[in-house]
Amino acid sequence: MQDRSYDVMIAGGGFVGRTLALALAKLAPQGFRVALVDAEPPDNGISDARASALSAATKKLLSVLGLWKQLAAEAQPILAIEITDSPLNAGLRPHLLGFDDEMREGEPGAYMIENSDLRRALATAVAEHPAIEIYAPESLADFNSDAFRVVARLASGDRIEAPLLVAADGKRSRLRERAGIKCVGWSYPQLGIVTTVAHSKPHEGRAVQHFLPAGPFAILPLKGNRSSIVWTEGKECGAAIMAKDETGFLAELSTRFGHRLGEISLAGPRQAFPLDFQVARSFVTDRLVLVGDAAHVVHPLAGQGLNIGMRDVAALAETIVEATRLGLDIGAPIQLERYQRWRRFDSAFSATIMDGLNRLFANDSAPLRALRDLGLGLVDRAPVLKRFLVREAAGATGNVPRLLRGESL
Ligand SMILES: Cc1cc2nc3c(=O)[nH]c(=O)nc-3n(C[C@H](O)[C@H](O)[C@H](O)COP(=O)(O)OP(=O)(O)OC[C@H]3O[C@@H](n4cnc5c(N)ncnc54)[C@H](O)[C@@H]3O)c2cc1C
Repeated sequence: MQDRSYDVMIAGGGFVGRTLALALAKLAPQGFRVALVDAEPPDNGISDARASALSAATKKLLSVLGLWKQLAAEAQPILAIEITDSPLNAGLRPHLLGFDDEMREGEPGAYMIENSDLRRALATAVAEHPAIEIYAPESLADFNSDAFRVVARLASGDRIEAPLLVAADGKRSRLRERAGIKCVGWSYPQLGIVTTVAHSKPHEGRAVQHFLPAGPFAILPLKGNRSSIVWTEGKECGAAIMAKDETGFLAELSTRFGHRLGEISLAGPRQAFPLDFQVARSFVTDRLVLVGDAAHVVHPLAGQGLNIGMRDVAALAETIVEATRLGLDIGAPIQLERYQRWRRFDSAFSATIMDGLNRLFANDSAPLRALRDLGLGLVDRAPVLKRFLVREAAGATGNVPRLLRGESL
C-alpha cells in the first residue's frame, strides 16, 4: 500500500478527464501534480466506431494544449449544413434549413474527428507529461474529504490524496453516486447507431441532418470520400437493424442515406449506444467537482456532448490555475461555486435544447410538422439569426473561458 499526494486527482481517463489533466499539467504553475485514475488500460485500443463533431472553440482549446497539430491532418472541416425532414420515399429531399454562406465566413464552425484519432493523440500527450501520474487500469473505489483534502482509495488498495477530486467518470459516475448527488434525467426510447460509410462521390464538407419520425439520421463528412453516420432509431427497431447481417444492415442504411453521394459501402464497424438525458442537480460538493458526462448527458443529435464537456474543462482549468497562482485553496467552496456558476446553467440549457429538438422532430404529428417546418423556413430566411446559430454551435457565445477563445492561462 502506498500513500501519495497530488494537487488534483481526476477519476476517469475519457476525453474529458485526459484533456483536463493535460490542461492543468501544462498551464498550472510549475510543480503542480495531477493523478489520473482510469478504469481502462492507457493504450486500451477500445473499438469506437464514432467520430465527433468538435466545435471551433474545442479546436482552440486543443490548439493551446499543442494537440491540434497532430489532429489537423485527420480533421474534416464542416463547410455546410443541411437540415431536412422530408419523407424517405420523396424523390427529392428539399432542405428546410441550410447553412452555406454563413459557414464559409471566417474559420469553419466545426470539424469531424474520428474518436480513435483523438483518443490516440490524448493518450500519447498525457503519457509523455511528467506532471501527470497515470493509474490505469485502476478504479477509484471510495473517497472521504475533510477540511483540507480528499483521500481516495483505489481498487488496488493504494491511497492517494489532494485538495480536490474531479469526477470525469462518465454518465454512470460512481463518484457522483457516492457523493449523493442526484440527477434530473431519463432514458430515451431510442438507440444511437453509428458506423462509417465510403461513397463514390465527394461530400464537399457538407453535413446532413435528416429528421425522421424515429429520430435524426446524420451524415457527417470525414476525410476522403467517407462519412460518419449517427442514426437514431426506436429501441426495438434499432436492435433489429443491428442484428441484421452486413447486406441487410447496408440495405436499411441505404434507404435512409439516399443517392446523392453515389454508391455506398460500409467502411467501419457498427455500434449502438443507449441515449439519455441527464443533468446533475449539483456540479460540486465537498472538494469534489463533476465534469463531462458525469455532470451532463445530452442527446447526440447536434454533436454537442463532448463540446459541452470541453467547456467544463476550460472553465475548471481557468478556476484552478488562477486560484493556484494566488496561493488559494482550490478545493474551497468559493472556488467550486465559481465553477458551478459558470457551467451548470449553460449545460442544463444546452441539454434542454437538444431534448426539445428531439421531441419536436421525432414524431409524425401533422400539425407539429407544419409548425416546425414553418419555423425552420422562417429561420432559413433570417441571415442574422443563422449567423448567431453558427456562432452558438461553434461555442463562441456566452461567457467563454479563455482556453476556448484560444488564449493561454
Ligand atoms: C452516438 C453518440 C455520438 C456522439 N457524437 C458526439 C459528437 O459528434 N460531438 C460531441 O461533442 N459529442 C458527441 N457525443 C458525446 C460524447 O461522446 C461524450 O459526451 C463524451 O465522450 C464524454 O466523455 P467523458 O470523458 O465525460 O466520459 P467517458 O468517455 O464515458 O469516460 C469516462 C471514463 O471514466 C472511466 N471510469 C469510470 N468509472 C471509473 C472509476 N470509478 N475510476 C476510474 N475511472 C473510471 C471509464 O473507464 C472511462 O474511461 C456522442 C455520444 C454518442 C452516444
